[in-house]
Amino acid sequence: MPGTDRCLKCSSCVRACPVVAEIGEMTFPGPRTVAVDAPRFGPSRVAIAEVAWLCSMCERCLEACPSRIGLPKAMLDMRASLFPNVRVRPGHERLLGNIDLYGLSIEPVRKVGGETMPKAKIAYFPGCIASQREVETMECSLGLLKAAGAEVEVPSGLVCCGSPLVKLGDERRCERLMDANLKILERYDQVVTSCPGCTVQLVEGYGLEALHITEFLTEVTGTKGMRFRPGSENIRLAVHHACHLSRGVGPHTKERTYELLSEVPGIELVSTGDETVCCGAGGSLLSGYPDVAGRMAARKVDSAIFCGAKIITAACPFCAMNLRRTGGIEVMELTQLISSRLRFPGQH
Ligand code: SF4
Ligand code: SF4
Repeated sequence: MPGTDRCLKCSSCVRACPVVAEIGEMTFPGPRTVAVDAPRFGPSRVAIAEVAWLCSMCERCLEACPSRIGLPKAMLDMRASLFPNVRVRPGHERLLGNIDLYGLSIEPVRKVGGETMPKAKIAYFPGCIASQREVETMECSLGLLKAAGAEVEVPSGLVCCGSPLVKLGDERRCERLMDANLKILERYDQVVTSCPGCTVQLVEGYGLEALHITEFLTEVTGTKGMRFRPGSENIRLAVHHACHLSRGVGPHTKERTYELLSEVPGIELVSTGDETVCCGAGGSLLSGYPDVAGRMAARKVDSAIFCGAKIITAACPFCAMNLRRTGGIEVMELTQLISSRLRFPGQH
């Protein structure tokens, strides 16, 4: 167990938890009960199984804990120990069925990849959401990577990275997906992703050289190859920092995001104060409890509107999709936003 015997019973983790804030401790007792107390003292596994998948894996509790207890990891360990013996939520069942049928967490609507470039040493890994639902993210990401001078391709035959299965606690299915992806991805020197959940999984789970696109465009290629349209109308923009990016991949990605936005003409940043608060998409919360994930996203959208933003952006297709479900404000995934201001060859 990741250091749970160091618990001071201070409840800082509970106060930091956005799911507790949204639905209350009576419905989700929070990280201390699920990840620290339950494994050591009970309550029963049946009672814990009722709430163990209500966490979005945002890692705010880890930041708040004075003893630096690995609460999200302890939560995942709890899920992995429960998974073989409990009936998961209907949305999770659907996800597992899709993995078994298609190798993707969602039903595919299009075939992706296949055009190979002889020199390409960089693979773009679109992940389930950008390849099948937020397709503009994949297209804009590829456009930006090419505009920045990267020789990149989308390999055919890729399946889900396995991150949703790690979050569910299903290690067996996850290993099968990883084996299939590794056979393809180990042919490349570098993997680039748009989805931070995929980035974390490819780095930590697979041990690959994988970078999120915000890192790649700032640390590897730079943005000099990109030309922007001058005189564009100003955008009052709120930023949502995806949890799996700003806490999972690392806090440096917040600076990388702002670095990229500073290149785009006409961006007027609006400070909301809740930029790093979870939108509810991650950790299998959206698939298991779409109503809770929707309420958390709506809270963020309301805050952006209250602060005068006209658009909200996130460097994560999954967060963008969840925020968009609420309506009320335009949501643009980061590469979509940047591409909308890009000047393509021959354009003035
Ligand atoms: S990871 Fe986030 S949602 Fe999960 S228990 Fe911790 S603070 Fe709450
Ligand atoms: S913040 Fe850390 S020390 Fe405090 S109750 Fe939570 S797990 Fe225990």
